[in-house]
Amino acid sequence: MRTEIIRLKPGSSQEYAVKYAAEILRSGGIVVFPTETVYGIGANAYSADAVEKIFLAKGRPHDNPLIVHVDSLDSIGLAADVDSVPYEPLRKLWPGPLSILLKKNHDISPACTAGMDTVVVRCPDNDFAREMIATAGFPVAAPSANVAGRPSGSDVQDILAEMDGRVDLIIDAGKSRFGIESTIVDPIHRPPRILRPGAFALEDLENLFQGIVQENLKVSGTGQPLTPGMKYRHYSPDKPLYVGTSDQIKELNRSPHGDEYAYVCSRELSRDIQGIKVELGSRNDLYEIASNLFTCLRKLDKVPGKLGVIESFPERGIGAAIMNRIGKAALPLACTGQT
Ligand code: AMP
Ligand code: MG
Repeated sequence: MRTEIIRLKPGSSQEYAVKYAAEILRSGGIVVFPTETVYGIGANAYSADAVEKIFLAKGRPHDNPLIVHVDSLDSIGLAADVDSVPYEPLRKLWPGPLSILLKKNHDISPACTAGMDTVVVRCPDNDFAREMIATAGFPVAAPSANVAGRPSGSDVQDILAEMDGRVDLIIDAGKSRFGIESTIVDPIHRPPRILRPGAFALEDLENLFQGIVQENLKVSGTGQPLTPGMKYRHYSPDKPLYVGTSDQIKELNRSPHGDEYAYVCSRELSRDIQGIKVELGSRNDLYEIASNLFTCLRKLDKVPGKLGVIESFPERGIGAAIMNRIGKAALPLACTGQT
């Protein structure tokens, strides 16, 4: 398959690109498109054949369902049973990085939902994405634009390296705004739950979903027992990766094993350690850390060092999402027996 690339120029008309991308989706093709979280690989959510192409391109297991994107809250009935929709919070949160578990509309292909009768729906805060979906005329199933198990795609150069020849079109709109995926909320069960922390933090949602909880998702950098999810590696670079607190990392850096590692760390920690470093940004700006996280995990594979170690961050605000992703990509430093 030949992959075309269209670069969007800030400030100029996107009309041609919107029409072209929508046309490819209508003819059953797959398109990498920008959102405010990370880039998605989109297909017609009503077509099992089109959705299958996403699974093939990513090498994604079929039992991992896809998020379905709509152009507005008014169109949510195209994806979900409207009786299951919590309109009030969604009016405040959409468009935005919030995905919501709902009862599936019968037109959504079971290929998107791993055969379940629920569907996760989102309305992205990105003009191109919403116009493309509106022009296509159907909801668009879209997971992140990366090979399954690898860090999500938030930069087109990284995406191209994995997806060239596997998708019909890539729309390049520059670096993603948040760089970390949406928060997924399940409002169906009591109490409502955060299924995946993301760009919206628990604190942003507490007043909108009464009694909302975020359980069993915490990952600590201290080597304490881990959630079962830690068994699985996601977002993974090729180098074995460990996570530790800044104090653990300083100690490791001074130890005889220190030069075996490349260090993925904040600007602040970087000043206190020697060796190969990949800088995430300032510890005082967790949004900056989030937006650089996936590109830095990819950079780790390009720098010398047999192993990688990444700094842990406070689990407040978007920090919960950062630590959730790091926890899936890395093992606690304590596991090396070197601290
Ligand atoms: P990704 O597209 O890789 O960012 O991940 C989408 C996430 O949404 C995955 O963790 C899926 O398991 C989850 N998801 C999608 N649809 C459903 C659903 N119907 N029920 C539960 N989780 C879902
Ligand atoms: Mg993903």
